[in-house]
Amino acid sequence: TAPASILEVQHLSMRFGGIVAVNDLSFDVRRGDITALIGPNGAGKTTVFNCITGFYKPTTGMLRLTHADSREFLLERLLDYRVSKVAKVARTFQNIRLFAGMTALENLMVAQHNRLMRASGFSFLGLLGAPTFHTAEHDAIERARYWLDRIGLTARADDAAGSLPYGDQRRLEIARAMCSEPALLCLDEPAAGLNAREGEALSELLLAIRKEHGTSILLIEHDMSVVMEIADRIVVLDYGVKIAEGTPREIRDDPKVIAAYLGAD
Ligand code: ATP
Repeated sequence: TAPASILEVQHLSMRFGGIVAVNDLSFDVRRGDITALIGPNGAGKTTVFNCITGFYKPTTGMLRLTHADSREFLLERLLDYRVSKVAKVARTFQNIRLFAGMTALENLMVAQHNRLMRASGFSFLGLLGAPTFHTAEHDAIERARYWLDRIGLTARADDAAGSLPYGDQRRLEIARAMCSEPALLCLDEPAAGLNAREGEALSELLLAIRKEHGTSILLIEHDMSVVMEIADRIVVLDYGVKIAEGTPREIRDDPKVIAAYLGAD
């Protein structure tokens, strides 16, 4: 059986010149859990994401990802495209990064480009024959349509992504990440800029992803109502250091956490 943790972060530090953005941070993301990484502005949360996803090479530390079949990946040793393609870690960014001029459906197809290229490569070599590409393409369209439906955007499949309401764009980004069938989904402030109703729709989507697909989720989030509602565990950072870790209830009542938030403006 696969270990209980999908991601183990051990003694992670990231320095930028004189700035220690992350300082000897250790925590686990349990398989199938929603884990929230919270903390005041500048606490180092996005830097942790950049280390996990191979955008930064950590100054020190180990980031071990273990798939359900027990295959292990040391993320700190992989380049970013291998973190996504091989280790199957998907991420979204603080700012929306959809292709605004492409349709909603096309955005979900682009996410599967690698898979399609692989299939077409095989047929080009004549190893498996042309049908491989058509099967892969068919599967990709099915997957894209499934996720469009899951976020309630089937009717807007052919509309430009940039023309959709902001909350729909944010969920389309998550759908796009899910089209790559990640083992670990990393979301950087998915609720930022959402109104209460959109925040609610986001929470429902993330809970459904966990329940129906068993995807482990790590999210950075400032919206405490979203965090408290959906997180199984919370890790709190302040000035690059972990100051608390626990269930939403434990974190809410932790004096160190309260002080960190009241101390920040
Ligand atoms: P926010 O909630 O505002 O997004 P955060 O918790 O994500 O903040 P980070 O963006 O990780 O915080 O930043 C942590 C610290 O590291 C900050 O002091 C920031 O200025 C610094 N930092 C981050 N990236 C770099 C970089 N590429 N070069 C230099 N300093 C950086």
